[in-house]
Order: sequence, then C-alpha cells, then structure tokens
Amino acid sequence: MIPPGADTVLVRYGDIGVKSTKVQRDMEDSLETNLRAMLDSRAVPSEIDWRWSRPRIRTAEVDAAAAVACDTFGIVSASPAVSVEPTMAAICRALSETAGALGVEGPFAVSARRAGEREAHPFTSEDIEREGGQAIWDALSDPAVDLDDPSRTFYVECRSDEAFVFVEKRTGPGGLPLGSQRPLVALLSGGIDSPVAAWELMKRGAPVIPLYFDFEAYGGVDHVARAVESARTLAGYAPNHTRDLRIAPAGAAAARFVEGIGPTRMLSLRRFMLRVGERLARETGAVGIVTGEAIGQKSSQTSANLAVTDAVAELPVHRPLLTRDKQEIIARAREIGTYEDSTVEAGCNRIAPEYPETNASLEAVEAAEPDLDALVEESFAGIDRVGL
Ligand code: ATP
Ligand code: MG
Repeated sequence: MIPPGADTVLVRYGDIGVKSTKVQRDMEDSLETNLRAMLDSRAVPSEIDWRWSRPRIRTAEVDAAAAVACDTFGIVSASPAVSVEPTMAAICRALSETAGALGVEGPFAVSARRAGEREAHPFTSEDIEREGGQAIWDALSDPAVDLDDPSRTFYVECRSDEAFVFVEKRTGPGGLPLGSQRPLVALLSGGIDSPVAAWELMKRGAPVIPLYFDFEAYGGVDHVARAVESARTLAGYAPNHTRDLRIAPAGAAAARFVEGIGPTRMLSLRRFMLRVGERLARETGAVGIVTGEAIGQKSSQTSANLAVTDAVAELPVHRPLLTRDKQEIIARAREIGTYEDSTVEAGCNRIAPEYPETNASLEAVEAAEPDLDALVEESFAGIDRVGL
C-alpha cells in the first residue's frame, strides 16, 4: 500500500545497530554500497540519502525500490512513504490524502514517532496521533478507531527537517550487509537445498563463491543449466559480489568411485567435493564451505556420515539447513526465488549405490577410497567460469 505522492522509501536495519560505533559505521558503508548496487542492477533510478540511522531512498519508483531494499541483506524492513514539511498541517494533510486514497476497511490507528531536538517541533508524538487521527477520521466515510487491533495503522515519522507518512513496513531479510564477513565457497548443486543454504550464509554477510561439480555422464537432465540458473538467482542478491559460477569437471572422479567403491561411495564423493572446495577457497581467500546438507535427509547425511565427511576438511563446513525439514527449505526456496530453478532433484542419484552405508566409520571409508589427491588436482585444474 503506497500513499499518494510517495517519493521516499524508509529503510531500517537490525543487527548492525547493536555493534560498536566503528563496526557499525563500516557496516553502514557496506550496506549503502550494496543497496546502491542492488538498485542499479535492477534499474531503479534513485538517490540514497544516508542520514541518521534511518536511510532514505529518494525515488519516483517507490514500489520497486522497496522491493529491492527488501532483498538487500542487513535490511529489516522498508516503507514506501510520502515526505512532507515537518509541520502539523502538512502531516495532517498527508494523512488525510492517504486515508482518502487508500480507504480503510475496519478500524484504524495512528502511530507517530517524533525524533530530533525537542525544540524542533512545537508538538509531541501524542499530538500528531490525536490531530492526525482526527484528520483521517474526517477523510473516511465510515470511520472507526481501534488502537489495540486496527486493520490499518497510519505511521508518521517526524524529523527536524522532514516528516514521513506511510502505511506499511515490508519485511526484509535482516542479517548483516554482504561483505561484512569473509567469503565462503558454496557447493551449489542446482537442487533445492544448496541455493537456500548459500543464501542463508549470504544473509549473515558472507559473499559466496558458487562451485558446481559437473558429473558429466553421471549428471541429471539439464543439470548444468539448472545450476547456472540458481547461481544467477543468488547473484541477483549480490550484484557487487557474486559474478560467476565455477564449474568443476567431476565425471572422472565419479567414474572412479562408481567402479571402485561400494556402500561408502557417496561419502568419498562428498569428501572429494569438499577437498576441491577447499582448494578453491585457498585460492580465492574464502574461509569455509557451505553445503545444503540436513541431518538425516539422505543416507550420506546421517550424523555418523557427516562426521566422516567432515574429517577430510580442514576448513569449517557450514550447514545452515542442518536441522530444517524439507518443507521449511522448500518454503524458503520459494520466497527467495530459487525453487523454480530447481524443482527437479539434482543431487547425485546416478552415482548412488543400491545399498548405501548409513553408519560409516572413517576407517572403512578410507580403506575403500582411492587416493583423492590426483582426482582433486585434476578437477580443480579443469574449473571453468560461467558469467552470471
Ligand atoms: P540439493 O537439494 O542442494 O541438490 P540434495 O538434497 O540433492 O542437495 P545431495 O545430493 O546429497 O543432496 O547433496 C548434498 C549437498 O552437497 C548439496 O546441498 C550441495 O551443497 C552439495 N552438492 C551435491 N551435488 C553437488 C554438485 N553437483 N555440485 C556442487 N555441490 C553439490
Ligand atoms: Mg539436499
């Protein structure tokens, strides 16, 4: 819902606000840079006015700009607003016009916040709520007020130089600005889980370097295309950070595992992927790996098997979906727009043995596993980049 004449989007952030002054300033700088890059990449003409703790986007396209803000990590909420002079008359006029244009089904409330020097305004927040409420009442044909359970709240934010009227707070992702953490290599399969996992780490500020393993003859239908699409969707949240997808050839490794290993095959495959991921991390300055694994989701993801997989890695392996049910993951994938890219399970189904081990020991896996070094080097050397 957008007030008539809306010309500004008010942006709020969360976790940044609890940091020390220096860290907060750095994070605000990153957030502003990222927001600018997001607005540019989605072609929303706008100026960012970064003052106080409530940045403002000045734009004629408030709806599009609010949508961009709500896709920018670190932003908790955004409100399309109309800006007016910080006087009672101007605020009441904007409230009246907004109520007249949008109408209200059921009771309404006014919530006002006056910030800045007390002498800046000859009125209080309560004055705005009372007089503004009256202005809305007069503008409606069948008005009703309910401060505890309104069907619409009219918000007023009054600063010393400007006041804003708005009626919605759209929810953003929250988290921290991208780039405020060191990067991570994201193992991206083109399936449902891994893009969600990467997104969750991006939300906490870590840019990702997406890495896809092409199992070649062992891959699924359209597998590379799907991985590229989900990487592209992720890159849409990180236009100034993620620009390409790395594709590592893994057909030779898959063939070796299929021919030479029985029940623990998938674990060696995962260990191989982690090793290549680490190799890439070392080269790119990344400090860990992200996967879409969840406890018990597949035989390779039992708590015992994850222990064996992890034993091969020196860098931390982050698994943000560890405790999530599939339905929760799907819901998130829909929200962030990666579900459509990946509705068919990608995974490694053509490689899986008929009776996979669910309770592996490190000794058994190592005993069955060929020396990974050469396979890892070969795959790493063949990595290709696809621009997103
Ligand atoms: P997803 O839903 O993301 O495809 P999945 O449920 O199919 O995963 P697995 O195939 O067991 O599960 O893969 C577990 C994790 O291993 C994935 O979430 C991803 O991080 C990584 N992974 C699997 N296949 C690939 C691949 N071809 N390239 C890169 N990473 C992969
Ligand atoms: Mg999975």
